[in-house]
Amino acid sequence: MLMKIPFSPPYIDEDVEKEVLDALRSGWITTGPKVKALEQEVVTYCNAEAALAVNSATSGMMLALHWFGITHGDEVIIPAYTYVATALAVLHIGAKPIIVDVEGDFNISVQKIKEAITEKTKAIIPVDFAGWPCKYDDINELINEPEVKNKFLPKGENQKKLGRILIVSDAAHSIGATYKNRRTGTLTDITVFSFHAVKNITTAEGGMICLNLPTAFDNKAIYATLRLWSLNGQTKDAFSKTQAGGWKYDIVYPGFKINLSDIAAAIGLAQIKKYNSHLLVERKRVFDFYTNEFEKYNWALLPPYNVIHSSSSYHLYPLRIKNISEHQRDSIIEKLAVNGVSVNVHFIPLPMLTVFKEMKYNIHHFPMAYTNYATEISLPIYPQLTNLQCAYIVKQIVNAVAEL
Ligand SMILES: *Cc1c(COP(=O)(O)O)cnc(C)c1O
Repeated sequence: MLMKIPFSPPYIDEDVEKEVLDALRSGWITTGPKVKALEQEVVTYCNAEAALAVNSATSGMMLALHWFGITHGDEVIIPAYTYVATALAVLHIGAKPIIVDVEGDFNISVQKIKEAITEKTKAIIPVDFAGWPCKYDDINELINEPEVKNKFLPKGENQKKLGRILIVSDAAHSIGATYKNRRTGTLTDITVFSFHAVKNITTAEGGMICLNLPTAFDNKAIYATLRLWSLNGQTKDAFSKTQAGGWKYDIVYPGFKINLSDIAAAIGLAQIKKYNSHLLVERKRVFDFYTNEFEKYNWALLPPYNVIHSSSSYHLYPLRIKNISEHQRDSIIEKLAVNGVSVNVHFIPLPMLTVFKEMKYNIHHFPMAYTNYATEISLPIYPQLTNLQCAYIVKQIVNAVAEL
């Protein structure tokens, strides 16, 4: 019997509908109480010092890099294996993305970071691929090594105060993941979550910047600054201006317009309230189901999951099939499509995309990113997926691999 299985439908239940309706009926639909409530939920959930909602992870990363004074002539190190947003955030503030290879767990290679650091390096953006946290102890240790710190040439107040390379983690996939028993959101100076429609928690479009800068910084004050910068640099937000007599404002900084609306925040607010108790549990169920099945086949390379003190957010199930070619991988995907199973490939490495080829990047210098890509298939993984559907997906993959 043919089953039709979508790749990643959003989780919309009655509680989401109620929360959105509540926003619609409240008379206030843009940035206001729902956004505040969502920020507070993230602060509590992640144990972050402060969290600022924005309209996407991309603009969140741009804002974070801009806050640190990164601009033309500066370099930011990023992994080859990521969505293009990581690189575009760097390009859009005028800096140069320095792309480095990844490891067998899909995440950025700390050795490659080390080799790429120059006197122009101002930040590193590690990506928690599929929801699996990067090796943050190693990364944090590296940027604090005396020889690496000595290379750092600070410009402006924030760079002087930090005195080293800034870490902004692209945690678009990893809300709810843990590393050494701490949740993402607190593992680096700044963490940026995505609430895009396919992510673990969604606001349709949206993102969240978590601040955990060292004690020399006042994270709550930086939150206030970034909030201002996310709303045109205007001293009063629209909500305060609607209060009687509160019409006067000033523009004190040439800011951006990247705030999140209350309608959007309402979706995420309903989801985050049941994230740990339900949504994450159901994602883990699907992840474990696949792992238990694929463990039986020696052609299957399972995604990382069983390292002590770390846990995934189970955002993707990136299955790799050992020793197959890119072409064979594509033919498996075609067979799955014929049988009703929608899958994906995460990601086409940056050096294979035209924009980066034109910047003289060549995939031959990124062998691990290429192998990960050529042999990878991302399977459907979401709370609504039943075990019956999972079993069907496994069967279709086993058949397709047998037919190679
Ligand atoms: C989805 C995604 C982004 C971009 O998130 P937006 O909220 O759409 O800007 C960035 N990085 C990675 C790894 C992603 O998967």
